Amino acid sequence: MKNNYKADFPLLANSDLIYLDSAATSQKTQCVIDAVTNYYQTQNANVHRALYGLGAAATAEYEQARKKVADFINAEADEVIFTKGTTQGLNWIASGFAEQVLKPGDEILISIEEHHSNLVPWQIIAQKTGAKLVYVYLTADLNFDYADFEAKLNSKTKIVALHHMSNVLGNILDISKLAELTHNFGAYLVVDGAQAAAHTVLDMKKFNCDFYAFSGHKMFGPMGIGVLFGKRELLAKMQPVEYGGEMINEVSEQSADFKAAPLKFEAGTQNVAGAIGLGVAIDYLKQVGITKIEKVDLDLSKYAKNKLEEIGGITIYGHNHGIISFNLDGVHPHDVVSFLDADGLCLRAGHHCAEPLMNYLKIPACLRASFSIYNDYSDVDALANSLKKIKEFFG
Ligand code: PLP
Repeated sequence: MKNNYKADFPLLANSDLIYLDSAATSQKTQCVIDAVTNYYQTQNANVHRALYGLGAAATAEYEQARKKVADFINAEADEVIFTKGTTQGLNWIASGFAEQVLKPGDEILISIEEHHSNLVPWQIIAQKTGAKLVYVYLTADLNFDYADFEAKLNSKTKIVALHHMSNVLGNILDISKLAELTHNFGAYLVVDGAQAAAHTVLDMKKFNCDFYAFSGHKMFGPMGIGVLFGKRELLAKMQPVEYGGEMINEVSEQSADFKAAPLKFEAGTQNVAGAIGLGVAIDYLKQVGITKIEKVDLDLSKYAKNKLEEIGGITIYGHNHGIISFNLDGVHPHDVVSFLDADGLCLRAGHHCAEPLMNYLKIPACLRASFSIYNDYSDVDALANSLKKIKEFFG
């Protein structure tokens, strides 16, 4: 498999780096970089306030970006809120929605695979409301345990908060099925889509989840822009978490009347360039094709699994959808990653913001190689060669 896309990503095209950390953040295409620069060079004005032409044009671009996101995820534009990223979206659901819904004794069902962003906000809301956090664990082959999920779901469950794609194990959950099961008990399904957004088709109508959060920077878009999808009727009930300029209809000395969603959630000056950049990243993703990306992801993680197994002395925890997590037996992952860095390989080592999962796997940390369309077999070969050298060195 030869890479045709690296040339679109200037940081990679102009260096010898082998970037295997796309699950942390993806590289940016020239078209996204140009869109952000162009906004500041030729379109910069604040949105939803300026009445002059430049401001009206910036507002139109911003709202067009929202429409692009809505089409990309098969939702309506008024169900798309711009945020800073997944973390902010999940925190807003916890504080603006779940806090009103939860009572003492209610249950929040999450999985042991959650990223801290889809875990800590629930811990805090559980402490505030007297609700209890209940965990779904994994099957023996380290997949999400649907039987355990069904066993734990009950009439006390009010919120189910799950990842769509794990940032450590790479597995993708069946959101439509999970939504049906969740709704049978009258609970709400919140989905952390941070990893999934650039790796699989997003279809809110088909998924039928209640909320879905993701980040632009993991899908070739700029940092500091993200999306929170919520069903229209739920966004009407959800409280804003931030208050200020442009999210109101009218303010008197003692009270204020808020605009309808999505604007009631977007208080203050927004990341307009980020939203426009995200729109262009979506154009690029569509042009490449999500099906093509999924094929590359699966192919590379399988190829990597075979290559790492050939070396021996490597424990693999998960390999799927462009992610492979592993450890070189007897060597701390932080040491391994420093040696890999010396060979020009960029990989993440650590707990991957999933400490409960690390504890469950009985490891302090692990290495993670994560791929995107700008990677090919030669990158995996370079990783395998470097790992062989490190193994010999420590052997
Ligand atoms: N959820 C998952 C599964 C993630 O992998 C990440 C980031 O790595 C996040 C949430 C948080 O995303 P962000 O830092 O963009 O808010």
